[in-house]
Amino acid sequence: MNPIDELKEVAQEVSICTRCELYHSRKNAVPGEGPASAKIMFIGEGPGFHENEMGRPFVGAAGKFLEELLATINLKRSEVFITNVVKCRPPGNRDPLPDELSACSSYLERQIQAINPRVIVTLGRFSMARFLPNVRISDVHGQSFQIRGRLVVPMFHPAAALHQASLKPAVERDFSRLPELIAKATEAPEIKDAAVEEKKEPKQLSLF
Ligand code: SF4
Repeated sequence: MNPIDELKEVAQEVSICTRCELYHSRKNAVPGEGPASAKIMFIGEGPGFHENEMGRPFVGAAGKFLEELLATINLKRSEVFITNVVKCRPPGNRDPLPDELSACSSYLERQIQAINPRVIVTLGRFSMARFLPNVRISDVHGQSFQIRGRLVVPMFHPAAALHQASLKPAVERDFSRLPELIAKATEAPEIKDAAVEEKKEPKQLSLF
């Protein structure tokens, strides 16, 4: 299946998914959005109130801040793919539970394989843990890691920076490094079959 059709198929399946309890409390599932050809993918935690209302990721205050951050590095929201580790809103914006993360995992995996991004930016602890388990975000934010042929850059969630002003300079600094990292990742040979590589090398991890 071509990447555009695969992303549509994932979105369709997510819209009627009942694999975990979060389907009970959703108004709209939020599969994610952006071009199938995106070189960079942002992965957040889960939909919040506004996202649940609109069925789109990062549309509240955190989304506005994310768009401002993208503008500082001359990127438009329409040029990147934005999604979350869980596609339905956890009640009251609580943290997603392990069984919810596990149930939703294959949708994100299919999106990654369809888009085949050169750079993945994780926003917050839960998306970071998918690629970098057993690390603290305060220790590794803004660093880049070569994981299964992609550059993974963990960052604080924009919402965390809005709630805790002391994190904002770190988020802005981490974002300012992205163009250099994207350029490096784009120079590297393209991944031909990410699905196969990810199955073969599930544990590989090294500092970029
Ligand atoms: S969070 Fe994911 S697994 Fe759970 S119901 Fe929504 S789409 Fe399905």
